[in-house]
Amino acid sequence: MTTFAQLTTTQVSQAEADLTEPETRDALAEAYFELADRDEPFLVIGGGSNTIVSDDGFDGPVLRVATRGVEYRPGEGGEVIVVADAGESWSELVDATVARGLSGIEALAGIPGSVGATPVQNIGAYGQELADVLVRVEVADADAGERRWVADADLGLGYRTSALKREELLGLVLAVELRLREVDSTGGAPVQYAQLAKALDVELGERVPVAQQREAVLRLRASKGMVLDPSDVDTRSSGSFFMNPIVRRSFASEALPASAPRFDAGKDAEGLELVKLSAAWLIDHAGVQKGFALPGSGAAISSKHTLAITNHADATAEQIAELARYVRARVLAEFGVELIPEPNLIGLQL
Ligand SMILES: Cc1cc2nc3c(=O)[nH]c(=O)nc-3n(C[C@H](O)[C@H](O)[C@H](O)COP(=O)(O)OP(=O)(O)OC[C@H]3O[C@@H](n4cnc5c(N)ncnc54)[C@H](O)[C@@H]3O)c2cc1C
Repeated sequence: MTTFAQLTTTQVSQAEADLTEPETRDALAEAYFELADRDEPFLVIGGGSNTIVSDDGFDGPVLRVATRGVEYRPGEGGEVIVVADAGESWSELVDATVARGLSGIEALAGIPGSVGATPVQNIGAYGQELADVLVRVEVADADAGERRWVADADLGLGYRTSALKREELLGLVLAVELRLREVDSTGGAPVQYAQLAKALDVELGERVPVAQQREAVLRLRASKGMVLDPSDVDTRSSGSFFMNPIVRRSFASEALPASAPRFDAGKDAEGLELVKLSAAWLIDHAGVQKGFALPGSGAAISSKHTLAITNHADATAEQIAELARYVRARVLAEFGVELIPEPNLIGLQL
């Protein structure tokens, strides 16, 4: 018997999963089409690091993506094309590409989960995101009823979103194709995140060797409980529980203190300037501190990072949701900003 607690990194829900785990890309596509044809709900899961399932479980089949395989081929002008099966571990793929001296995803080291889920929310960290290197993905397209390669430009990738996440494209990712760059021992992608530059003692935009950048990212992530570690309860989470809110600059100027961090985020459909806020700052300044737990609950804010809701002591899924609701209500009351959850919540209401 496999429980949802065993399938997810937050490790909640003792309900049993009705699991299918095809071993090849062809079998995975076939299993997906079969489920999609049935017209009944089913759940796709990779590493379960962005999924939280209710204590009642999920009433339907669960398709677990665990297919393996990575292929490297030369691209143009020092580029290397990497094609990875959806069930590969993302962090292992980063480690392997860094070991080969390839640059492009070194700052995405340590992000848990599968390769196939990376385009779903266009993973990002420390100044890099998947969209920077993604060429195309192979999907089993439920509407078309066939397998096809979809170019990155057609995936509608944005901040923690994609056409897949928004369900504009109903499909299962079977494989992901990336374009990385071969660099010599001194090269690497420019450091694009102030905190990372500080940790590396370099200027923002300076290039550092890929292995060095990867190691610095892993150290920073570990200090925030953002690298899975079975001995550290702070990592029993789904990473950041809330996305950084994007609001109009005019709203931020009126509603938030000048000390609230904000970053340019383009313009909205009406041409008004947008800024991205720090969800961690908002939570902290709404009075919810690291380590906070509601009385009698096994769920707690990580002791290392305000943005992670952790299963601190045999939490239930409902306790995780209860704490998330509390955090959201505090931020809304204090700043008038509604936080949006990042993980895929199954059977749970916030
Ligand atoms: C400690 C920690 C740190 C994290 N840090 C970051 C971070 O820095 N940046 C970041 O962006 N994310 C971060 N995350 C979130 C998470 O790791 C990523 O979103 C990751 O890509 C999820 O992969 P997964 O395989 O675990 O997805 P799952 O949780 O299994 O699935 C997530 C969603 O994708 C769908 N899905 C899964 N596989 C496929 C597929 N093959 N085809 C179509 N849909 C699919 C699922 O149905 C679900 O809706 C973190 C999580 C944790 C626990």
